[in-house]
Amino acid sequence: MPMNGVIGMTDLLLDTDLSEEQRRYAETVRSSGESLLAIINDILDFSKIEAGKLELEVLDFSLENLLEDFSATMALRAHEKGLEWICSADPQVPLLLRGDPGRLRQILVNLAGNAVKFTHSGEVAVMVSVETGSDDEVVLRFSVRDTGIGIPEDKLGLLFNKFSQVDASTTRRFGGTGLGLAISRQLTEMMGGGIEVNSREGQGSEFQFTVRLGKQTAKERLESDSTKNLRNVRVLIVDDNATNREVLSKRLSFWGMRPQEAEDGPTAIERLLHAAGEGDPFRLAVIDMQMPGMDGEDLARAVKGDRNISGTPMVMLTSLGIRLDGPSLAEIGVTACLTKPMRHQELIGVLSRALAGRHADAMLKSPEPLLSSNIETPPMSAFANKRVLLAEDNVTNQQVALAMLGKLGIQADTAANGADALQALGRTAYDLVLMDVQMPVMDGLEAARRIRNPRSAVLNHKVPIIAMTAHALKGDREKCLKAGMDDYLAKPINGRELAEKLGKWLAMEKKAPEKENEKDRIRPSDVVFDRKNLLRRLLDDEDILNTIVEVYLNDMPTLIGSLESSLERGDHSECERLAHSIKGASAGVGGEQVRATAFQMERAAKLGNLDEVEGLLPELEKQFESLKAAMEDATDIQMSHHEDEL
Ligand code: ADP
Repeated sequence: MPMNGVIGMTDLLLDTDLSEEQRRYAETVRSSGESLLAIINDILDFSKIEAGKLELEVLDFSLENLLEDFSATMALRAHEKGLEWICSADPQVPLLLRGDPGRLRQILVNLAGNAVKFTHSGEVAVMVSVETGSDDEVVLRFSVRDTGIGIPEDKLGLLFNKFSQVDASTTRRFGGTGLGLAISRQLTEMMGGGIEVNSREGQGSEFQFTVRLGKQTAKERLESDSTKNLRNVRVLIVDDNATNREVLSKRLSFWGMRPQEAEDGPTAIERLLHAAGEGDPFRLAVIDMQMPGMDGEDLARAVKGDRNISGTPMVMLTSLGIRLDGPSLAEIGVTACLTKPMRHQELIGVLSRALAGRHADAMLKSPEPLLSSNIETPPMSAFANKRVLLAEDNVTNQQVALAMLGKLGIQADTAANGADALQALGRTAYDLVLMDVQMPVMDGLEAARRIRNPRSAVLNHKVPIIAMTAHALKGDREKCLKAGMDDYLAKPINGRELAEKLGKWLAMEKKAPEKENEKDRIRPSDVVFDRKNLLRRLLDDEDILNTIVEVYLNDMPTLIGSLESSLERGDHSECERLAHSIKGASAGVGGEQVRATAFQMERAAKLGNLDEVEGLLPELEKQFESLKAAMEDATDIQMSHHEDEL
């Protein structure tokens, strides 16, 4: 599809040496290309439905995997906007189902995408429950709820009509075609359900839909073995967000634990002390890092400092892939750190280990990733010496993919169609195949079936195969898996996704993170911008680093400005809140000096000492300026290094 050439080539162009102006133009081409592609996909879908040409697939799938994948990508978008993201299925929901997972995901992405788009603060929550069920079928109810701008009552009725948007300025401000909801309605109806909306202007919206799905005859996988040691364990959940507490509480009860909730740090301490006094102490605390007032780190310190409860193992939950490093975590009594959205198996593992008294040091060396896979991009060296075959007939697409692979340190061989690929696989034992689906002579699906056939002449029948197929044909994903392929990349191929998939299938033998040397471990307060540490925390993902830094540099002047005006008004609690935000944000980006000063300010504000806060303000401003300069500098240094390599 020609859009692949447009977007892929623009991506490559953006990686070359461009002037500021040229870069801006190229970025506009790329984002316009992406919007156009989304519109084309919607229109293709819609015309297929209208023409009665859309057929649903009936496949075995795991709802758990579907929700976790979906949640990982949406959470990133939500967190970028500072929204809380929640996605959870009731414990009663069967997870091994039959139906069309691709289309189900499409509805969810549509509704959740809208929810994130139209919400500026608060939360987006996706919940799944059982409506009715029998032995072989179940009707599931999905709810996507947000605290966004809401929809005026007189517009609610029109929402599911095609090309309808609440007001014409929406398109200008938010983009979109007004087709998403119409497609979602058609899809839910095709799946034997329906969709409805509830909304209050200014307060938020809730979209609910039902779908009828088959149950797999195979028995539900039993979690009971892995959760055996969690049974009857008294656990405290500390989170300022009520939905989060409720979801986690339900889940932990389902595993047989005895959860109790606390909405902030002081309440948590009170509950912990009370339980200890009762002689039935909490054996675990699960703490959200980002809370107003006393945050997770402050709470952990306080718990650690109180003899009566200092032995409580604590598990910290964070957003956005930012976590404290292991050693300093252990110092304040935190056993492990998990990034939201967390996977159930991951959570079970962490809780069990925390109970067994193993600390963060051991955690860091454990083979399980501590961070959700959505931000895991392996370092280039992981791919050195890997043999990759690229089967792709279109020369432009071939070039795009080869260049992206090259950037990851991979020198791939090419094949022009499926038959070519089979021959190459007969000569060389490749470590991985990237397989275009639509190719002349022999297409990707047929090629994959032959590779998996033990009687064919290829050397390695088990070689991981990643399909590459046009976004517009979403049902293809399942066809690819059915043909024996392992994974799927949507065209136009995105460099980060490619790196992630390669990481997943090539670097299976993950190395334990390098042990930090003593010097790095202490956060020296004379470092203006601790880029190295930050980058390591983000698993060497420069893109995420740059995004975070950009957001930070954008937000900080506003925060500092508001702090100044709250000082002028003499508003203590607002001062404290803003200093706290500045502290948290600066810690998040490795701006140690700014963090330290903001911390002093927060403490002073808490004690009502606004003169001290005011006295520190010039210092904070100066430190922020040098941090900003250091950040901009570091980005430049990065770029010139890059050029040297080329
Ligand atoms: P698109 O988002 O592509 O414009 P949709 O059919 O998905 O098309 O949505 C139609 C319109 O419904 C949106 O433009 C918006 O005005 C309104 N809308 C949808 N979801 C929400 C929501 N969660 N909150 C507020 N408005 C919404």
